[in-house]
Amino acid sequence: MTTSHVLPRGAVIGIFGGGQLGRMLSLAAARLDFKTHVFAPDAECPASQVAWKHTLADYDDLAAVRSFSNSVDVITYEFENIPTATVIAASPGAPVLPPIEALHNGQDRLTEKTFISETAGVAVAPFYPVNNEFDAKRALKALGGKCVIKTRRMGYDGKGQVIASSEQAAMDGTKSLGGVPCIAEGFIPFRREVSIVCARNRHGDTAAFPLIENQHKNHILHTSICPADGDTGQARELAFKILEALDYVGVLAVEFFELDDGTLLVNEIAPRVHNSGHWTQDAGCTDQFELHIRAIAGWPLGDTQPKYRVEMTNLLGDDVDQIPELAADPAVKFHLYGKVDARAGRKMGHINRIIS
Ligand code: AMP
Repeated sequence: MTTSHVLPRGAVIGIFGGGQLGRMLSLAAARLDFKTHVFAPDAECPASQVAWKHTLADYDDLAAVRSFSNSVDVITYEFENIPTATVIAASPGAPVLPPIEALHNGQDRLTEKTFISETAGVAVAPFYPVNNEFDAKRALKALGGKCVIKTRRMGYDGKGQVIASSEQAAMDGTKSLGGVPCIAEGFIPFRREVSIVCARNRHGDTAAFPLIENQHKNHILHTSICPADGDTGQARELAFKILEALDYVGVLAVEFFELDDGTLLVNEIAPRVHNSGHWTQDAGCTDQFELHIRAIAGWPLGDTQPKYRVEMTNLLGDDVDQIPELAADPAVKFHLYGKVDARAGRKMGHINRIIS
């Protein structure tokens, strides 16, 4: 291990994005004696409440981006829709980790799926680019009569996607997505959705938590359980291929569809800490936020073997009204995000429950 790639104690970690992931990264960084400086456009964001410093500016304010990057030792990000121009403007000031290519890939479903299947050699659901209603009609046919049409950019939690099982629905669905570039994926009759949260540090060491089983409600993650049953090690192997193909540094999440015969197809990757990894905070091992900080700081990665089986449940919108009852259960561990407005579907916090 070269010490030139190890962040000194007290170093400042810049974070683009001020949401709950930035908040939990800041808390983990503080435990390791690093300071975080958050760059985010909202005054009262979850991360700024606990970070050492906050630059309150828009992502397209490149003068603010440059002065931020000149004042930190390394830059990371907590959501993948930071404009690439912002990150490029920041990069002369401090190294950006995970690398910009990973961010760029993750922002466009077509680029991402092409990279995963062709460069990393990992299977994904069959897909076709869709730029108009006629492409959608052709793709539906090629995909066996049922497909999911998704906007290439800015889609998350099921936003920007429609399921189509007729030519008319494919054409109408494409129109309803607003005429933006899309992809059509084959509809996968999966038996369950699973994910892997893994990491690679500045020295090329890798680590992964065990397989995670995820349940969604209305396309939003509801619960994650780890370790999941039936972990063959295949998901971890595939995730490591993607880490290497990206020459990655930091935490990476890989979401899979698991078919009846056990085959895994990648649904998507996230170049950051991930909602399906929140259970790690109460599993008796290194949590995913510390794992990310260790990776970008050039530390050894620590212990990714949970000592307990943990179930994480998201608290969405007015689920936070249940906090008093939940708090009466000593098995429940809280992680709340400091958000005032409990809008429907908004991620307000999560709870972890040790199962065994
Ligand atoms: P995504 O935003 O791509 O993660 O999709 C959100 C959710 O929609 C996934 O977690 C799945 O439950 C479902 N979904 C997405 N793509 C497909 C697909 N190709 N086949 C079946 N279900 C899908």
